[in-house]
Amino acid sequence: MEALKQRILQDGKCFPGGILKVDSFINHQMDPDLMLNIAKEFVERFKGKPINKVVTIEASGIAPAIMVGYLLHLPVVFVKKKQPKTMENMLTSTVHSFTKDREYTVCISNDFLNETDHILFIDDFLANGNASLGMIDLAAKAGATIEGMGFVIEKAFQNGGRQLRERNIHVESLAIVDSLDDCKIVLR
Ligand code: 5GP
Repeated sequence: MEALKQRILQDGKCFPGGILKVDSFINHQMDPDLMLNIAKEFVERFKGKPINKVVTIEASGIAPAIMVGYLLHLPVVFVKKKQPKTMENMLTSTVHSFTKDREYTVCISNDFLNETDHILFIDDFLANGNASLGMIDLAAKAGATIEGMGFVIEKAFQNGGRQLRERNIHVESLAIVDSLDDCKIVLR
């Protein structure tokens, strides 16, 4: 997606350890016009899939996911990173955080993800794929079908994309970063 790529080159910043900071338009301050165009692109790329629900993981996936849900008139559910005491019929999975380098438990209520669901998973970044594998685990526990996984930015020098595509998951990434070596952003 050209406008996104231009924005990453213009405003993205490299941090040591292969981290791309995009917090002036995605991860902290958000650009709703860009976000809407991102959502339109996801809708186009997953056209024809029998999706009945959009699922994401808090926090940064929520903005693109809600835009996609709005365009498709579908409910949006976000996987939670803290287990609320009041959640009923909780399904859980353990995820390793790339940015924080620790394990955490994610959860979703079986009330909002079950065997009738055909989901489109949306997230901001695909790095090593840990969040996505957590989502796959939750979907399996719920009996839900994953129709596709869409990422705003995929870091192709990490392993996530390969892991997901090997599982025959339809993966779409709107900007693919081939390298952040020497703190230079190289996009595909
Ligand atoms: P994964 O689980 O695929 O290893 O990493 C995905 C999650 O880690 C994303 O949801 C995102 O929050 C975070 N993440 C991974 N790499 C980056 C990065 O380079 N920049 C930012 N801002 N977040 C990242």
